[in-house]
Amino acid sequence: MIKKEPTSASALLAYDKTHVWHPYTSMSAPLPSYLVESAHGVHINLASGESLIDGMSSWWSVLHGYNHPKLNAALIEQSQRMSHVMFGGLTHSSAITLCEKLVSLTPAGLDKVFLSDSGSVAVEVAMKMALQYQQAKSNTPAEHIKTKLMTVRNGYHGDTFAAMSVCDPVTGMHQIFEHVLMKNIFAPAPSCKFGDVWQPSDVKALTELFEHHHHELAAFIIEPIVQGTGGMRFYHPEYLKACRQLCSQYDVLLIVDEIATGFGRTGKLFACEWASISPDILCLGKTLTGGYMTLAATLCTSEVAQTISNGEAGCFMHGPTFMGNALACAVANASIDLLFENNWQHQVHSIEQQLQVSLLPLKAHARVNDTRVLGSIGAIECLQAVNVAVIQKRFVELGVWIRPFGKLIYIIPPLVITKEQIINLVDAMATVLNEDSCFLP
Ligand SMILES: *Cc1c(COP(=O)(O)O)cnc(C)c1O
Repeated sequence: MIKKEPTSASALLAYDKTHVWHPYTSMSAPLPSYLVESAHGVHINLASGESLIDGMSSWWSVLHGYNHPKLNAALIEQSQRMSHVMFGGLTHSSAITLCEKLVSLTPAGLDKVFLSDSGSVAVEVAMKMALQYQQAKSNTPAEHIKTKLMTVRNGYHGDTFAAMSVCDPVTGMHQIFEHVLMKNIFAPAPSCKFGDVWQPSDVKALTELFEHHHHELAAFIIEPIVQGTGGMRFYHPEYLKACRQLCSQYDVLLIVDEIATGFGRTGKLFACEWASISPDILCLGKTLTGGYMTLAATLCTSEVAQTISNGEAGCFMHGPTFMGNALACAVANASIDLLFENNWQHQVHSIEQQLQVSLLPLKAHARVNDTRVLGSIGAIECLQAVNVAVIQKRFVELGVWIRPFGKLIYIIPPLVITKEQIINLVDAMATVLNEDSCFLP
């Protein structure tokens, strides 16, 4: 029997608390959730009446704000033709146009596009491509095929199994799943910071690991320039250049995970551009649809695609049900068009300038270890971890939506945010820094 749906805000929240999983959350002692009524521009409107300035872009995915007329129109228009058709044996202009845009905008050489549902899946696809490529390429017995991945510590590439196996082994989920995860190889995290003088010694350990392990490495995977979930750490472009050089030298594929950095976030359209490199395989997600729908893409070179296709399997073995979803492709096309119409470089540059003026000086605060800004990302690394439930409540009271994790209080706002709204966000951050209850002892 279907019960009557809960309707009042308190009934909805009560049901949510007892039956609905939220990300990384306990079902027995869940953190509070806030009920959202609507969202418009850079504002998230709660059912309880507060209108919050969004500093998170809904986990770094929103670019042009919520409820954007052009993005809405793209969805409506597409839905009136079809929302989805299977991609096996069928194709459509929204997907083709999107792939054409992605090939032309991403670094040179990435000519083939595989569309999928989410960032983690795009990473799975990238890893499978690398493994199938090495298998197809090798004439050696099965036990000598390159089957491992290498990455750096502090990374994050998603929550599915293959993706987890290249997430940071300490802060990632390795302890829980150790017995079932692929065993991959970890280099130290890049330590030379973006903007500092390059220290070639920063790639010494990495170079040695390539020397020792290249015969078993299918691919090397890394987030370009920004280690996001690992703590918004910005590293030196020379490090990424060295990754490209070592991969080429040792015949290891380079997978660059631009899921968080793609589409302007760091001040370049793709963070690879900071190092003027092209990877063999590139993952995109998050901002791909301007934060409207789930969609991801894995691009690869013709060489990777041809080798896989000429191999024993004769094809690439992956095909999600919702591959090439027409609604998602239509809104992605509209979002990419808006980036250029809105002059994204100017938008990101003015966010960066405002963050430099208002956020960087918080470094002087006694509770702060470091502050850093790159493109539309501003982060405060505290000396203590935050008390999420308390700090979240305070931010809502202060009229902003900021969700810190660990010692990191950061913002990555939609590109359409105004200077005044950035100041509001940073003021709220400065306010909570003064409140002991927002931090764990
Ligand atoms: C968020 C993220 C992912 C995972 O994307 P989902 O859509 O959450 O599966 C992978 N890599 C990076 C760098 C990310 O920031």
